Amino acid sequence: MLVRLGALAILLIGAPAAWAGEISLKGEYSQGGLVIGSAPPGAAVTLDGKSQPATSDGTFLLGFSRDSARRRVLEVRLNGASIFKRDLEIKKRAYDVQRIDGLPRRKVTPSPADLKRIKAEAAALGAARARLSNASFFRSGFAWPALGRISGIYGSRRILNGKPRRPHFGVDVAAPEGTPVRAAAAGRIAFAHAGMFFNGKTVIIDHGLGLTSAYLHMSAITVESGATVDKGAIIGRIGKTGRATGAHLHWGMRLRATPVDPQLLVPPML
Ligand SMILES: [Zn+2]
Repeated sequence: MLVRLGALAILLIGAPAAWAGEISLKGEYSQGGLVIGSAPPGAAVTLDGKSQPATSDGTFLLGFSRDSARRRVLEVRLNGASIFKRDLEIKKRAYDVQRIDGLPRRKVTPSPADLKRIKAEAAALGAARARLSNASFFRSGFAWPALGRISGIYGSRRILNGKPRRPHFGVDVAAPEGTPVRAAAAGRIAFAHAGMFFNGKTVIIDHGLGLTSAYLHMSAITVESGATVDKGAIIGRIGKTGRATGAHLHWGMRLRATPVDPQLLVPPML
């Protein structure tokens, strides 16, 4: 969906005469969707009253969570005046239930020592996420990081070894161990971990404005933290490290704290 606000509309809402730009919005208005927006440079963007970062040229991102409300309010202000206000209608999705059995008991019900380790790993990951840039690497567009059978989708409720666990926030691509894993978009390596309890060998790429991609369960990592990568650059190899029953890539995308659906960013895999 592309929304353009023409000159007539500007007059109707009484925007400052100096503002001659347009607001454009492109992306998926559904739970798990990501929208790339463009506003005049210096504009202040809010979603439901919450400030959204923008690049110096006015590009901003909106992410809708798995359980996003149906109606969200987008407002753009310039020099203190509201120049755009619109209710966004977010499509509701139905999620399936995925049962996975045969996981090691420890990976479903961790011991107190494991929990300590999980907490420390989450803190390291949180610190990396807190250092994200205001770059706009995401302009490269997105591509599948690996090709193979899709063995898990975004949003599914998960029952692991018979126990309800948090939903699945990513897409799983099953492929032979050692298959190259590529950066889904250009970015900077924000985090590389040799072996997390659940995620195994993990890479997080910062695509700018708080948008990140995550690559889990790899058998090898071939990039270093801080490096800049192009879209399609090899960053690792598919594996089954961490909580996995077979070789696959878990690909996740987040806009700041909101996990969005990677599959909505790429064409169907053929
Ligand atoms: Zn997964």
